[in-house]
Amino acid sequence: MTDPRQQVAEHLRFYGELGVSGVGARERASGPRDATGSDAHSYRLGSSASDVGPRKTGAELLATVKTEIGVDCSRCKLHAQGRKQVVFGVGNPDADLMFVGEAPGADEDMQGIPFVGRAGQLLTKMIEAINLRRDDVYIANVIKCRPPGNRNPEPDEIAQCEPFLFQQIAAIRPKVIVALGSFAAKTLLRSDESISRLRGRIYDFHGAQLIPTFHPSFLLRSPDRKRDAWEDLKKARALLTAAVTPRE
Ligand code: URA
Repeated sequence: MTDPRQQVAEHLRFYGELGVSGVGARERASGPRDATGSDAHSYRLGSSASDVGPRKTGAELLATVKTEIGVDCSRCKLHAQGRKQVVFGVGNPDADLMFVGEAPGADEDMQGIPFVGRAGQLLTKMIEAINLRRDDVYIANVIKCRPPGNRNPEPDEIAQCEPFLFQQIAAIRPKVIVALGSFAAKTLLRSDESISRLRGRIYDFHGAQLIPTFHPSFLLRSPDRKRDAWEDLKKARALLTAAVTPRE
């Protein structure tokens, strides 16, 4: 969406939907920060990025990860449980902002693109509400294949697939990561806490700032929590604005 008037109208519609008043009011640059136990992430995040030689581009690194997964991945049982395809990720390989969801649903499985169904439409509105376009950010899931009947991802599936998410993050090197829902937040933060307990704070994730928030599917079921999600998104926007460190 490039027409600024259309963009403003879209934002106002989203704010209206959120029941947010005082649009444009000054907000705090960020909330309190938390450091997570970094030993919880002791695998080599971004090992390919730290190899000797000139750093490959985000796009090149992502392509390597995609190739490594393969089009016909059979590392976990989901390959034999009706998934149509691996849903890798979408967006800007050099994005400053990355969204991490849970798992592809039926629409995503069909199209091979994360967040294209109803929840995806809400996510798109959320992105546009902070003056970005979907193409500006990168979107991926903890697991890349659809669980049957959209059931929750199981621990063995997460264990098999999460290294690829971490490699995607290392390739993109986002400044801010928004973890959508409890599976994303728990996986990235190595936590057993509920999303309600995790959200409201900003965490360090290997130098990126991580904001847990509610999953768009949950927001569709519980619209009264959209206000909280909006607070989280405002923090993400403020962090992006404040992050002036140039890339190496
Ligand atoms: N929910 C997710 O977590 N990811 C998607 O891609 C779609 C819905």
